[in-house]
Amino acid sequence: MATEGTAAAASAACIEERQHSIITSRKGNARSRIHCTDDSLAGAVSQRACVYCGARVVLNPVTDAVHLVHGPIGCATYTWDIRGSLSSGPEMYRQSFSTDLREQDIIFGGEAKLAACIDEVVEKYRPPAVFVYSTCVVGVIGDDIVAVCRAASERHGTDVIPVESTGFISGNKVVGYRAAAEALMRLIRPKEGEVVEPSQKVNLLGEYNLGGEKWLIERYLREIGVEVNVAFTGDSTVAALKQAPGACLNLVQCTGSMHWVAMSLEREFGTPSLDVNFFGAENTAESLRRVAAFFGDEAMAARTEALIERETARIAPFLRSYREKLAGRRAAIYVGGAFKAVALIRQLRELGMEVVLAGTQTGKQEEYDRIGELLDEGTVIIDDANPAEIERFLLETGVDVMAGGVKERVLAYKLGIGFVDHNHDRKNCLAGFDGAVRFADEVATAACSPVWKHLRRARETG
Ligand code: SF4
Repeated sequence: MATEGTAAAASAACIEERQHSIITSRKGNARSRIHCTDDSLAGAVSQRACVYCGARVVLNPVTDAVHLVHGPIGCATYTWDIRGSLSSGPEMYRQSFSTDLREQDIIFGGEAKLAACIDEVVEKYRPPAVFVYSTCVVGVIGDDIVAVCRAASERHGTDVIPVESTGFISGNKVVGYRAAAEALMRLIRPKEGEVVEPSQKVNLLGEYNLGGEKWLIERYLREIGVEVNVAFTGDSTVAALKQAPGACLNLVQCTGSMHWVAMSLEREFGTPSLDVNFFGAENTAESLRRVAAFFGDEAMAARTEALIERETARIAPFLRSYREKLAGRRAAIYVGGAFKAVALIRQLRELGMEVVLAGTQTGKQEEYDRIGELLDEGTVIIDDANPAEIERFLLETGVDVMAGGVKERVLAYKLGIGFVDHNHDRKNCLAGFDGAVRFADEVATAACSPVWKHLRRARETG
């Protein structure tokens, strides 16, 4: 049975076991609990990717590393273009490497082939590090990638890092984020005799430099007087990541993917962390103020206020004109991480829009509580949705535009609904003050396109 307050939404679940994963927002103490952070239900057609993909999206932006997929060639389709991450230098991350396991390897084991592949890429490219990703079949046949990587590291005197991301170990790609976090910690933990000097710089966690977003945030921080040490992992290099323990603060943007790295850096090196969110003008301003407050420097606080005032004034006329077009229109959100959902709700509401559906693939209870607080009472909130559920809510709530990932795009278009891409494979910068204007422009273009009117007329007459 669904609990009180969730019954109406839950009755829309296509599969009975999913009824607790769909709730309606309620305020204060009456908040609804949602079933989340669990494995996806078998047969429910989850839109989450696999564990290996979760690890790959976190690590792939390390620009000068070799990313070697130990598995059948199909797994290697998750490659550079699953991230719109840009590089200011090395391009190694855009190459795709796979051990291309075949039937013989599945029967007799793939360890020798993996060792040979590592030798080949190291000899040919001399990378500063090789990430070796485990996939489903590697878990089934039991290849010991940790031992193979250790031996290869000793053989070549370079970091060969196992990423234990066997696809089937969980029905939740968050487990892949954890595998990536463990791989990153193996890489950056100073080895015997290595010393990382402490600095007043900050690490930027959960920032992947999609469309150059890291560069934009870095510019804001530099203007207020804060230097970025390294981003995890957008536009990062192996050498820069190894300096991570020297930072005085970790700014955590995508908490879903970087929660474990932040915890590990705090536990092992005592680095505190601060949540930030650079999507939307309000979030950007709040985040900059939070960073300035951490340093407790009056001159920095003054520079921060000057930056916020200047940028807010500069973009205000643009946002006003988009608000005139969009006020009263309805929006739906279905994205991977909850931090992004929170940012999108705020941005869409700033544009005068009504958010009638909000969901994520990997949100946690406290994040759903925050989402519920931002939404109007009774708004549908959904965890780990499937296309049938999304379709039903899009149609029932009369949505004008949906913000989501690549898998929702086709669904929205088929239903005659505008779509805005906020996925990790996009190539446009949506962060900061300029990103807020670009996002508003994309929403207005998608929601107000005349094509939807013609489509509806064709349906009515057809
Ligand atoms: S790791 Fe498994 S689920 Fe992921 S792409 Fe490879 S075979 Fe598919």
